[in-house]
Amino acid sequence: MSIPILEHKRIAIISTAVSPLGRGYGGGVEQDVLKFASWMIEAGADVEVFCPEGSVAPKEIHLRTVEGALVKPIQFLTEDRGKVEADTALTEALRQIGKRAEEFDLVLNFSYDWPAFFQSYLSRVPILHYLSICSQTPELDALIRDLSAFRPKALAVLNREQLGTYEDAVPDRFTDLGYGLSLDRYRFRKKAEGKTVAWIGRITEEKGLEDALDFAERQNVRLRIFGVVQDGEYWEGLKGKYSEETYEYVGFVDRGRLAEEIGECEALIFTPKWGEALGIVMLEAMACGVPVIAYDSPGPRHAVRHGQTGFVVPLGDVEALCEAYKRIGNLDRQACRDRVARDFSEEAWRNRALDWVKSGLKG
Ligand code: UDP
Repeated sequence: MSIPILEHKRIAIISTAVSPLGRGYGGGVEQDVLKFASWMIEAGADVEVFCPEGSVAPKEIHLRTVEGALVKPIQFLTEDRGKVEADTALTEALRQIGKRAEEFDLVLNFSYDWPAFFQSYLSRVPILHYLSICSQTPELDALIRDLSAFRPKALAVLNREQLGTYEDAVPDRFTDLGYGLSLDRYRFRKKAEGKTVAWIGRITEEKGLEDALDFAERQNVRLRIFGVVQDGEYWEGLKGKYSEETYEYVGFVDRGRLAEEIGECEALIFTPKWGEALGIVMLEAMACGVPVIAYDSPGPRHAVRHGQTGFVVPLGDVEALCEAYKRIGNLDRQACRDRVARDFSEEAWRNRALDWVKSGLKG
């Protein structure tokens, strides 16, 4: 039974504006929005989640879907990068929350866009911001740095390695929330079944699927691919290049099925080419006993114990992925599971999250 520390508190959540909830284009942050909402409801709060049309969630979570275009993910390196138009689902959510400001005790923002950050300077309702990605632009770094001095601890990160990517960020001014998984949702598998490896992620350039396919072709292993196709053109290009003996595209599956299927694999190949803030899929794999071979990036550096629960290899080095794979049999699958149990407990994560929310409340 959870303690009702948020009883009678009214909380508005601003979801990511790059995807409706449940579609997968927003990646891990979609899960985080729903987790935080359910924890706060359990703790007695009245929670409304402002999210793009087409969102889906368990029925106990009150969704307030708002009209408006989706925001383009800031990591897409287009010319209009970081630009947010006035008619997006994010601006509409801000408008609606602003007009009803007196109804809320707190706003919890999951969108990584400047209009949401700016509300902290103007709003009478306290706002907390969940930073789910690494530094993206110098302009946003400057805004985040200033905001962290103006409202210490109101911005949260997933780990210190992620925070280290932000220019001149002062660690004490941020809340470090960490992350967690509930182990009972992941079945431990002592042994892999056959020569298969998993690749899990949004199919888009920054996740580097092409390198995992190159690896699979060279090593003659079968790559099982899980995830939503976010960039259709990129995916079509890849499909033409590799034989279907090298890979199987399973699709975007629910987390229950994902948990069931990863465990059969020898390893998870994680090849992000952007600064990866965490990579929840690495924790999911390790929870099943599956070691991770990952490109060096803040998230893998944080999550993988090199030589124990996997290998962290130089970014873009397919040969190093192959060399690491040859050593995968030396790793103890139990150590992978133990690492998640010890350092990524969902309960500890939930407690830190609720403490943060409570500290942000007005009055
Ligand atoms: N995921 C899923 N089904 C799939 C593939 C991925 O539900 O077929 C989920 C996965 O469980 C994880 C999220 O998508 O929660 C991806 O988060 P991650 O942090 O690894 O990457 P992001 O997309 O946020 O950069």
